[in-house]
Amino acid sequence: MLNKQDISDRILVQEHFAQEHLPSEMDQAEIDRYKARIKALLKEKDACLVAHYYTDAIVQEIAEETGGCISDSLEMARFGTIRPEQTLVVAGVKFMGETAKILNPEKRILMPTLEATCSLDIGCPIEEFSAFCDQHPDHEVVVYANTSAAVKARADWVVTSSIALKVAEHLEEQGKKIIWAPDKHLGEYVQKQTGIEMLMWDGSCIVHEEFKAKGILELKSVYPDAAVLVHPESPDAVVQIADAVGSTTQLIKAAAELPNETFIVATDRGIFYKMQQAAPGKTFIEAPTGGSGATCRSCAHCPWMAMNGLQNIVSALETGEGEVLVDEALITDARRPLQRMLDFSASLNK
Ligand code: SF4
Repeated sequence: MLNKQDISDRILVQEHFAQEHLPSEMDQAEIDRYKARIKALLKEKDACLVAHYYTDAIVQEIAEETGGCISDSLEMARFGTIRPEQTLVVAGVKFMGETAKILNPEKRILMPTLEATCSLDIGCPIEEFSAFCDQHPDHEVVVYANTSAAVKARADWVVTSSIALKVAEHLEEQGKKIIWAPDKHLGEYVQKQTGIEMLMWDGSCIVHEEFKAKGILELKSVYPDAAVLVHPESPDAVVQIADAVGSTTQLIKAAAELPNETFIVATDRGIFYKMQQAAPGKTFIEAPTGGSGATCRSCAHCPWMAMNGLQNIVSALETGEGEVLVDEALITDARRPLQRMLDFSASLNK
């Protein structure tokens, strides 16, 4: 059984901030120099910084300080289209840079690193996926945003976790059969919530798949008043014990709105930066990824998101390296389901 001492070194968001804000290889003076350089370069290059909630706090901080955006992949996609700057620096993973390019083909899209990818994207190669779709021509193809431009181009719809349920219900109302790819856990969640049967691709996120229901329940016994916040990329056993399930933006909202003072959070710990802003004074605890026999490949932080840092943001802006290029034919075909998602999302907010 866990006790407070056992877990004290992993729980406090303040500790997380201390680690994230002051990376061991940089002192505060160096961080300040990098930040000043990024601010100057963004102006000089007519650029803005778009960062995902899972990037390190220092990256989110500079996005915020320069009038950029920190958000989930849906909002990142939308934000890029409404900004006047001709260069977007996307701090996130490859599919986010590609999405920005598809929606803004006339703009220059830079990424701090082109190496940052996603296990869902890797696990859904276009050849196999296209062959799978060809076997079921009577199905509407719905793919998660966490896919390559080529997979999007093969799809009828793109979704993010924030509107996955609504899109599935919308297609069900139209009598459509659905292929769902690539995240089987998100798909299972949608199936359970809506009762809609879907043909599922067998992909998963290496970060969320590591969360363990048993470990969370043990943590709950130490913090009985804590609410459990879960991203639906997590396994069903973890979703089952959640007090709130949702996209990153929805989980931040839940942290602010629920009356609890303590939260066990089953998603990437990069989200703590915004959760702390939305719910100051509350305590956020990383959901356990270990447990006996478990292999922690991610430890609640995406290894690819962690590749974004101040140094490579400067380097991308200075050199223009890390530019995201997408084949023109793919842009045309992938834009259709992406735009459908944005239009659908806008119609929900009317
Ligand atoms: S956290 Fe998971 S879904 Fe998000 S980019 Fe990393 S591997 Fe992909």
